[in-house]
Amino acid sequence: MRILLTGGTGYIGSHTAITLSSAGHEVVLLDNLCNSQIDVVARIEKILGKKIVFYQADVRDTDALIAILQTEKIDAVIHLAGLKAVGESWQKPIDYYACNVGGSISLASAMKVAGVRILVFSSSATVYGDPKYLPYDEEHPTSPTNPYGRNKLQVEQLLHDLANSSDEWCITCLRYFNPVGAHESGLIGENPNGIPNNLMPVVAQVATGRLPLLNIYGNDYETIDGTGMRDYIHVMDLAEGHLTAIEWIAKNNGCHYFNLGSGTSHSVLELVSEFEKASGKTIPRKVISRREGDLPNYYAQADKALRLLHWKTSRNLSDMCESTWRWEQQRLA
Ligand code: NAD
Ligand code: UDP
Repeated sequence: MRILLTGGTGYIGSHTAITLSSAGHEVVLLDNLCNSQIDVVARIEKILGKKIVFYQADVRDTDALIAILQTEKIDAVIHLAGLKAVGESWQKPIDYYACNVGGSISLASAMKVAGVRILVFSSSATVYGDPKYLPYDEEHPTSPTNPYGRNKLQVEQLLHDLANSSDEWCITCLRYFNPVGAHESGLIGENPNGIPNNLMPVVAQVATGRLPLLNIYGNDYETIDGTGMRDYIHVMDLAEGHLTAIEWIAKNNGCHYFNLGSGTSHSVLELVSEFEKASGKTIPRKVISRREGDLPNYYAQADKALRLLHWKTSRNLSDMCESTWRWEQQRLA
């Protein structure tokens, strides 16, 4: 298939482009570069050993999208473009709704005009909100607790209604858990702007000395060691999840939801210990108070993806830490 990736130069988009292209699909990348750099295109080309098409455009520009979908003869779209910082979504709700919800409306409109009906949407486990039970399965009630999560849920609802409006639509919403890690080449990885908020990039920057220490947000949770636990998923496993999802949805209509997670969770201390092993560095740390809004623990029920997509994760926490460390060192070189 000829697949358009919006947000294609971002963290998950760049890794997904490599997996799709390596599997024989043709990829076209689109990004407005608000949270990624143009040199990612050359890095992807270096990994793949071939040229790829890139458009600098905003997903809110419906006319530009229609032109790209038609000129490039696109068969399917993976919609990753969006703003993703939960904390920032409280401070800039208009930007978040305009980009995440408005951008998705624009894309769906362009697809309708251009006659493209296959869509994979980057959703998030954030749509579930406070766990009523664990692991979260796809039937768990959705009740997001922040504007970013509400954006994701609203787009899912739009796509559900769109699929109901005509049985031509083939739509999959992928609810990612906690993507970490990098491509094994060390050429691409997560490149956060400013001081990162998420655990893995913070740990990586402490290991290289760019940050002085890791603040651990609480060690009095009811978890194996008192620290928060999450379902970390290697970004290359996630990329393979997109490959299986787009190939599956191309043969199935309607709107479908899949958790993409490993099905287990790891604590902050487990991740730190694994990172120390991978890097040979000591991670200085200090326990401070809990971060507001943090859940103690959550993880995916990943059986549906296994059953229908024949997908499951194959990389472990050690692979996640090693690849992150390779990328972090390369990034500074
Ligand atoms: P990212 O910021 O690295 O990539 C997103 C890309 O979209 C960036 O390159 C950015 O420049 C681009 N973009 C943003 N707004 C745009 C617009 N209006 N038009 C065109 N391009 C635009 O983020 P990521 O981690 O790769 O996330 C990709 C998607 O996955 C996002 O939708 C995010 O919400 C979702 N997601 C990410 C995580 C995570 O932890 N990384 C978890 C769950 C869901
Ligand atoms: N965390 C931490 N220190 C940090 C960043 C995160 O202790 O500097 C903890 C956080 O409390 C949570 C886990 O690490 O228990 C994962 O946090 P992250 O922000 O990466 O993911 P999210 O909470 O958004 O799922």
